[in-house]
Amino acid sequence: GTAQIGVTGLAVMGRNLARNFARHGYTVAVHNRSYAKTRSLIEENGDEGAFVPSESMADFVASLERPRKVVIMVKAGGPTDAVISELVPLLDEGDIVIDAGNAHFPDTRRREAELKAHGLHFVGTGVSGGEEGALLGPSIMPGGSRDSYEVLGPILEDISAKVDGTPCCTYVGPDGAGHFVKMVHNGIEYADMQLIAEAYDLLKQGLGASAAEIGDIFRTWNEGDLESFLIEITADVLSHVDAETGQAFVDIVLDQAEQKGTGRWTVQNALDLGVPITGIAEATFARALSGSVPQRTAAVGVLPAETTPFEVADRDAFIEDVRLALYASKVVAYSQGFDQIAAASAEFGWDIDRGAMARIWRGGCIIRARFLNRITEAYEREAELPLLLADEYFAGAVGNGVAAWRRVVSQAALAGVPTPAFSSSLAYYDGVRAERLPASLIQAQRDFFGAHTYRRTDKHGTFHTEWSGDRAEHDA
Ligand code: NDP
Repeated sequence: GTAQIGVTGLAVMGRNLARNFARHGYTVAVHNRSYAKTRSLIEENGDEGAFVPSESMADFVASLERPRKVVIMVKAGGPTDAVISELVPLLDEGDIVIDAGNAHFPDTRRREAELKAHGLHFVGTGVSGGEEGALLGPSIMPGGSRDSYEVLGPILEDISAKVDGTPCCTYVGPDGAGHFVKMVHNGIEYADMQLIAEAYDLLKQGLGASAAEIGDIFRTWNEGDLESFLIEITADVLSHVDAETGQAFVDIVLDQAEQKGTGRWTVQNALDLGVPITGIAEATFARALSGSVPQRTAAVGVLPAETTPFEVADRDAFIEDVRLALYASKVVAYSQGFDQIAAASAEFGWDIDRGAMARIWRGGCIIRARFLNRITEAYEREAELPLLLADEYFAGAVGNGVAAWRRVVSQAALAGVPTPAFSSSLAYYDGVRAERLPASLIQAQRDFFGAHTYRRTDKHGTFHTEWSGDRAEHDA
C-alpha cells in the first residue's frame, strides 16, 4: 500500500478530515460502509489531493503503508465497535487505529486494552471544531500510547489549527485521556454557552434592549478579555433577522435546549470523582429545565413572582457589571473543568499537562478564546496549581469584578431573572474562599444519626460522641 493515512466513515466529519489530510499533501485511503459517500467524495473533491478509494475494508487496509494509520470517523458507540471488529483481523502488529469520533472515555479505555492485546495501538482522539474545523484545522486531543504519538503526532499536528504558529494538537495521555479531555471541553462549552445566554437575558430584561442592540454589546465585548468564538457567533446570531417574519431570529426560536450527551457525561463523571463542577452542571440542568415542558406549563402564571422591577439607573454601568460578572463566572467554570481534568488524571494515571490543554484549545475548537493564553500562563507559573481561580492573574481579574458580580446576581434575584450559572459560580467562589464552612454542622449531624464520626479542629484523630447516652466523646 502507498497511502500514508486512511479514513473510514465519510459523513461530514470524516469527509472533511480526509480532505484536510489530502490538502496537506498526504495520500489518503478513504472508505465508507456504503460506497456512495466514498464515490461522492472522489467526484466532488477528488482534485484536492491524492485519494485512494476502496469499496471493501480489505482493499482499504491493503492500500495503506505500514505501520498503518486508520482514522475511524463513524457514529459513536456500537458503530465504532462494529468497524473495529471488521478492521482488527485485517491489521498487523504495530498498526495504529485512531477513533476520532465522540466516544465516551470508558469505551476508549476498554477498546485500547482490547487492541493492545492484539499488538495494536488504539488512539482515542478528541476532535473539536465541527464540520468546518475538520476541513480547515480542528483542535485535536489524541490519547493512547506515547509511542503511537511519535508516528502519528506530526501528521495530526500538521492538519490541526495553528495559533501563533503553534499546533492545536498535542499528546494528551494514555488510553482514554484524549476523549476525556474532549468531554470536559464540551462540558465547558455548555457552561460558556449558558453564561452567555444568561448575560443576554439580563441585558434584555434589565435594559429592555432588542436582540440587535444586545448583538452590538457582544460585538464590543469581543474586543476585550471576553474575545472568543462563542461571543463572536452570539453577536452574529443576535443580529440575524428571520427572513419569513422580519423578527429577530432569536425571538422566533423555540426556547427548549437540546443536547447530545457530552455535558451529561461530564457531570456524571464529576459526581464519580467528587469534583464540584457547578458551572457545567447548572448549564446541563438549565437545558433540561428548558425542555421540561409539563413542569413549565404547570408553573407559568401560577407560581408567584413577588419581583422588584429592574432599576437600571446607569445603562453603561449595568452593561459593564454584566460583562464583569460573565467573565468571573466563566473563570469559575474553567477552573472547575481543569480541576476535573486534574482529578481524572490522578485517578487514571494520565499525567495530563493542563497548561498544554488550554494551549490546544486556543484555536480550531468551539471554546477557542484569547483568555486560554492566560490559563496556559497560569499553569506555566505553577504546573500543579491546585486552583486556577487562585492563580495571581485570575484572582486579580475576578477580584476586580466581584462587586459587579454581586450586584448583578442580587439584582437578578430581586427581578426574578433566572441566572443559575452566574449565581452558582458566585456561590462556588464564596464557598471555596470561605475560611470556615457550615460543613462542620453536616459532620455533627452525620455523627448524631449514623455514628459516622468527625475530626476536630484542635486535635488529631477521629471521634464519635455518644449522642443517645451521656454525650461522652470517644476516639473512633
Ligand atoms: P455521523 O455521526 O452522522 O455518522 C455517520 C457515519 O457513520 C457514516 O459514515 C455511516 O456510514 C457510519 N456508520 C454508522 N453506523 C455504522 C456501522 N454500524 N458500521 C459502519 N459505519 C457506520 O457522522 P458525523 O460525520 O457527524 O460524525 C462522525 C463522528 O464524529 C461521530 O462520532 C461524532 O460524534 C463525531 N464528531 C462530530 C462532530 C460534528 O460537528 N458533527 C464534531 C466532532 C466530533 P453510512 O454512510 O454507510 O451510513
